[in-house]
Amino acid sequence: MNYKITVLPGDGIGPEVMKQGTEVLQQVAQLYGFGVDLQEGIVGGASIDAHGQPLTDRVLDLCKQSNAVLLGAMGGPKWDGLDYSIRPERALLALRQELGLFANLRPVKLFSALAAASTLKQEVVEGTDLLVVRELTGGIYFGQPKGVTKLPDGTERGVNTEVYTTPEIERIAHVAFQAAVKRRKKVTSVDKANVLEATELWRKVVTRVHADEGYAAIQLEHMLVDNCAMQLIRNPRQFDVVVTTNMFGDILSDEAAMLTGSIGMLPSASVGGKVGMYEPVHGSAPDITGQDKANPLATILSVAMMLRHSLEQSAAADRIEKAVEDVLNGGYRTADIQQKDCRLVGCKEMGQLVRDRIGAVKG
Ligand code: NAD
Repeated sequence: MNYKITVLPGDGIGPEVMKQGTEVLQQVAQLYGFGVDLQEGIVGGASIDAHGQPLTDRVLDLCKQSNAVLLGAMGGPKWDGLDYSIRPERALLALRQELGLFANLRPVKLFSALAAASTLKQEVVEGTDLLVVRELTGGIYFGQPKGVTKLPDGTERGVNTEVYTTPEIERIAHVAFQAAVKRRKKVTSVDKANVLEATELWRKVVTRVHADEGYAAIQLEHMLVDNCAMQLIRNPRQFDVVVTTNMFGDILSDEAAMLTGSIGMLPSASVGGKVGMYEPVHGSAPDITGQDKANPLATILSVAMMLRHSLEQSAAADRIEKAVEDVLNGGYRTADIQQKDCRLVGCKEMGQLVRDRIGAVKG
């Protein structure tokens, strides 16, 4: 088996963490006897510098013709002043839309070695193991009308529109219920149905899909987003699968990241179309770029998600996740998860430690 993977390192720490991710991928490919044909493309700020736009047709075609896409991160202060239509992050939205990636899966699982690394109390975060299913191609990030217009009195008016249709809600609800079937069989649907009509519809449709489409074995609860923000840090163990809109998912998943110690630990998968896209949850981290300080584990764990969801190589995925756990249990930490009595390592060394462990594990 030979898989075509498009690799988009992007900006900031993207290339640094991606190098560690692709080296892990090549290592497990060799160990498990499959081929990976890695084709690199430039996106985001790097693409703006080279081509004047954050995503070229050539790179988009490359993505469409591959088995999966691995993405680093995009953006940075250099491009912050640009018009929204050509900002680096536009490439991310365009890729999601063009590849039909309407569901973003963000597992938030605490490695027990990091229970004391969170800014939250150990007894609160211990045992956290939840999955945020975020709707990715609808809602307020895409809804029309949007924009900033000048008013006759010289002031301005900014508008964004939250829009969801029945089919958009149905398909994301199915993703959440199906994920819950393989987990602890509970779905929390998060909305703001008491204020926003679009999410009143969200609640109605999720309830109907649950009742009518064979998910009786799954427990469904509804929660308002403000309460969910609170419950996530009060008692995260109550959650199994959390399904929510694009913007609420964006915010809640970053909050949930802190349960695991650092955003540098969180992988994600964007699925729904023919080609899945896998990326760390974090951004380009301009404050630590080029200093060998970035935590590569979110990217390495994204490689594991890609192996499991797009390439059907779950044994290789398990092996990567086990190696990450072993390295953390061995007391190695990047700066973002550093703890007392642990050995501080850089991005490259962390990647090497994981590869050493992957090499050592097979009996
Ligand atoms: P960020 O995620 O880049 O950084 C937030 C904080 O977390 C920073 O202190 C950073 O140093 C730290 N951090 C992030 N990843 C880390 C890692 N792997 N290891 C150690 N520490 C890490 O978010 P931001 O600062 O708000 O955004 C920076 C740029 O990234 C912006 O241009 C933003 O638009 C962009 N961004 C891109 C994506 C993406 O490409 N998917 C996601 C979020 C933000």
